[in-house]
Amino acid sequence: MTDGLSNLSILRRNWPEYSDAGSTHVVDVAGVRIGGFPPVVIAGPCAVESYEQTLSAARAVAAAGGRLLRGGAFKPRTSPYSFQGLGEEGLEILAGVRAETGLGVVTEVQDPRMVERVAETADMLQVGSRSMQNFPLLVEVGRAGLPVLLKRGFSATLEEWLCSAEYVAREGNLDIVLCERGIRRDCSWSHARSQFDLEVIGPLRRATPLPVLGDPSHATGEWTRVQEVSRAALEAGVHGLLIEVLAPGTERSELRCDAHQGVPEDTLQRIVAFAAARPIPTAPESPIPAGAEA
Ligand code: PEP
Ligand code: MN
Repeated sequence: MTDGLSNLSILRRNWPEYSDAGSTHVVDVAGVRIGGFPPVVIAGPCAVESYEQTLSAARAVAAAGGRLLRGGAFKPRTSPYSFQGLGEEGLEILAGVRAETGLGVVTEVQDPRMVERVAETADMLQVGSRSMQNFPLLVEVGRAGLPVLLKRGFSATLEEWLCSAEYVAREGNLDIVLCERGIRRDCSWSHARSQFDLEVIGPLRRATPLPVLGDPSHATGEWTRVQEVSRAALEAGVHGLLIEVLAPGTERSELRCDAHQGVPEDTLQRIVAFAAARPIPTAPESPIPAGAEA
């Protein structure tokens, strides 16, 4: 681990263009610049469940000032008996909704054999928390020629996360956006699904110039807490947010995935307005996090 870590090309100290602690490798996704100002909000349903639901969510996202649409066609579910996503049909829905709204699409790919197919529809490929260390997937995603959203494994260290990003980067794709989505703290799920790791944002930004997003939806698992965690994440220095939305006209009880997390339209509007007014703090001084020195 030690040798493997100090050589990573994505570390600020090995990437001369970004040696200045405040600089960021801005990633362009369908014309939306992630890593600059203002912070970008990517929002949408957890899963694509129907054309109407996805279109309604996308319209709410666009109206609120969200810049990209998220939504899973292939869902990583803990139980094999849970809804796994609409698959190919979900991709077709996403393509239709993009044509209708003009919003670029961020969607997950889990299977290395599906990267080519998902890349035909996606503007950005999402690698989910559970897939962060699926190394063959990272290699394929690195070759796909699209920007990548790399979520942190919910038990991954900062160093492991950076190593996963390097798997993508060494295939020649440096357009990687990192996303903190909460880490496991206990198994009871008594008041929160995970814990948003506010304290990783500063060290991460010092370690690498890659942009960083916060996902308060999966961290909290509960829509009523998404706004406050969004604000805290922005305060900690994220370049944007990934937010799950309840499509107007949809009942929570109808949803087959993450039904409690989606924020209603007015909450999304407040989050976007807050983000838009928020200057992104530069990465604080110390150039390398303690762990990266190991
Ligand atoms: C998601 O974004 O819907 C998702 C499944 O997230 P995670 O991989 O962070 O659990
Ligand atoms: Mn989800």
